[in-house]
Amino acid sequence: MHDDGRYDDPRLTGPGGQPSADPVSRETNYQEWTVNESGEPSSPHPAQPSKRRESPAAGPVRPVSSVPANVPPARDPLDPADGPVNAPTPRPPAVRANAAVPTRYEPQPPVSAVPHQAVPEVTVAPSDTPQADGYGDEVDASTYVSRETPTREEDDPPLAMEAMRAVQILNPSGEVTMPRPDRTRVMCVANQKGGVGKTTTTVNLAVALALHGNRVLVVDLDPQGNASTGLNVPHHTGVPDVYDCLIDSVPLEEVAQAVEGIPNLWCVPATIDLAGAEIELVSVVARESRLARAIAAYPGHFDYVFIDCPPSLGLLTVNALVAAQEVLIPIQCEYYALEGLNQLINNINLVRQHLNPKLEVSTILLTMYDRRTRLADAVEQDVRNHFGDKVLQAVIPRNVRVSEAPSYGQSVMTYDPGSRGATSYFEAAQEIAERGVKEPVSRNA
Ligand code: ADP
Ligand code: MG
Repeated sequence: MHDDGRYDDPRLTGPGGQPSADPVSRETNYQEWTVNESGEPSSPHPAQPSKRRESPAAGPVRPVSSVPANVPPARDPLDPADGPVNAPTPRPPAVRANAAVPTRYEPQPPVSAVPHQAVPEVTVAPSDTPQADGYGDEVDASTYVSRETPTREEDDPPLAMEAMRAVQILNPSGEVTMPRPDRTRVMCVANQKGGVGKTTTTVNLAVALALHGNRVLVVDLDPQGNASTGLNVPHHTGVPDVYDCLIDSVPLEEVAQAVEGIPNLWCVPATIDLAGAEIELVSVVARESRLARAIAAYPGHFDYVFIDCPPSLGLLTVNALVAAQEVLIPIQCEYYALEGLNQLINNINLVRQHLNPKLEVSTILLTMYDRRTRLADAVEQDVRNHFGDKVLQAVIPRNVRVSEAPSYGQSVMTYDPGSRGATSYFEAAQEIAERGVKEPVSRNA
């Protein structure tokens, strides 16, 4: 990968290293791909744009049996817009080349070196057209179905199974099904890039843990107030908010609001007032540790405190890093995913050295994963190589239900608990909860 986040995949770039017209075709059309003598997959000749294979015998070689995890899934029956995901598919084990936090990103092996990436993509098509959705719209069904059935069943559970999943996620009995840590885990959800899923991750993990017996507080530290919106907590001007806690030392319990419909979940909202806090904090005493003090003084015992950071590395984020023991970094499986991450890691190291020795990057979550793109695979491999087992096995797919939920003032867990987005966040929450119990270092650090 280049410093600017581009990947050296020859199939993603044109002559001279320039991006080709469609470096990330999302169409998964297997029919044109061949494997040459050296075992390298080679793209079809552009002068032969046929998208159909006439018969299996006439078709190109396709390593089907060796790549079961990479076949395109069927659509979610309850969710026509649901993207294909890998959530129910067992994830490959993490590559642990370097569990330490990297200072720079080494170039990764070309995509073709990864076995399942031998599955090709061919057609140049806009990624959001119906034809380009990778569901085999243009595939000969007779050859396609027989090979895909095992994985399609797994990826596309019947309605009854989906309903069972929904009940499991909503946990109406309220029993504790996710282990509770023996002390409060304060997790700062940070990445100075915007739109990588910080807020979505905060809201959904918090709801998932709260629905499964944990007491959870969400601190919205972004002046945009998206986490407050997602949890349907009032945060218009005049509502007491986290700004009052930071600048005027108002106790957190006076501004925290119970989240309606989710027992065990509270939210400290952010109003637009918080936009001024970044500057006002500069002249405040102990400006970096205002939030840490406020959380420490909160009398209610929480199992988790999630702090949703703004997309910057200013004083608000520094306050979150000083208040937390753990950093959770959501990484979007897209171009430039790792760009800027060094800066965040450097900041975390500085805070650890000078202000909060307990701080550690404990969790990396891959978000908006689109399994139809080889780029998503490349980013996943890159991140797993560098962060090792800090990266959760659960990966959050790009899923339209996830993005719809906030407009209804809900998390995807309650908006569509049977969706793949909900299932994936549920699995991520479960992993986090289990790691919190297994890894005393995280809790005692
Ligand atoms: P951040 O807080 O890092 O700025 P957000 O959580 O607000 O990022 O996400 C940015 C946008 O992407 C939002 O519109 C959100 O609904 C959408 N989004 C986040 N995660 C997903 C996902 N898994 N699938 C589809 N859309 C998503
Ligand atoms: Mg946000």
